[in-house]
Amino acid sequence: MIDEVSIRSRARQFMLGLDLSNIDKDLSVYTQKVNAKLTYEEMSYGESGYTLTRRNGKSSIVVNELERRERQRFSACHEVAHLVLGLASNHQETPSWSYAKREDNEIACDIFASELLMPFDAFKRDVDQDEPSFELIEQLRAKYVVSFAACASRLAATTDYPCAFVFMDSKVVRYASRSKALRGLNAWVEMRAPVPNGSVAHRLIQSGDWSGEDSDISQDVWFRDWPKGYDLTEMAKHYPTFDETFSLIWFEQDSGPQEPVKNWSGTPMQDDDDGLKELDGVLSFHSRSKKK
Ligand SMILES: [Zn+2]
Repeated sequence: MIDEVSIRSRARQFMLGLDLSNIDKDLSVYTQKVNAKLTYEEMSYGESGYTLTRRNGKSSIVVNELERRERQRFSACHEVAHLVLGLASNHQETPSWSYAKREDNEIACDIFASELLMPFDAFKRDVDQDEPSFELIEQLRAKYVVSFAACASRLAATTDYPCAFVFMDSKVVRYASRSKALRGLNAWVEMRAPVPNGSVAHRLIQSGDWSGEDSDISQDVWFRDWPKGYDLTEMAKHYPTFDETFSLIWFEQDSGPQEPVKNWSGTPMQDDDDGLKELDGVLSFHSRSKKK
């Protein structure tokens, strides 16, 4: 079982005192701290990176130069995490969408990596400038040079708005990250449930359209076991080619409930987060197979 909070705090400790002003271009401030050199090589499809440590303590972090830049950066930070946390890699082949099956060590390193790439204080400051939106995500992902999913997920987790980022394929909800405010309202999105009827995401999948927005989504569409009564805003994007659908859902200022909602069936017995499902910033969705 992963202690997410302690991993995040290990990452923040690791970053203390470092000059982070250049990390959008150059991650050597991190690699140097673990006595590693970052190199690039062609790897096979789906492989992201690995680390070699010599007897003298120096390491080489190698990332797949064929992958997108955002992915390379994530891989480099993931490898730094292996070194800092002293966690062994699991090099087993894993099928796509296998997030839930990923080894604890790998998930821990993903969490650590997201902290390195999107330093909390700066990221939070940027997120707080505006209401959640896809435009804001685009702006932030360009600034922090991270994948859309990693950025959106972290945005949803850090905003003060009651907000969730939901990641789906064409059938099922795969992953969600929720803000503290939304968790405080007792709103949770069911994992592995069908893409909900009545959502923008569902509409896009049915029609094959690529993007849509609606500010009158009934809240019980998304949140399990909720009453009706408030309207959510949902913006969704659907990529038929990759079979990926993303939704950002949130209550606009003062449009959500003021108090935690009493769920009809009382407090859920099941920990819907499974401890791990709602990590912000994770995201190996695009790594189809080998992850080292
Ligand atoms: Zn790893």
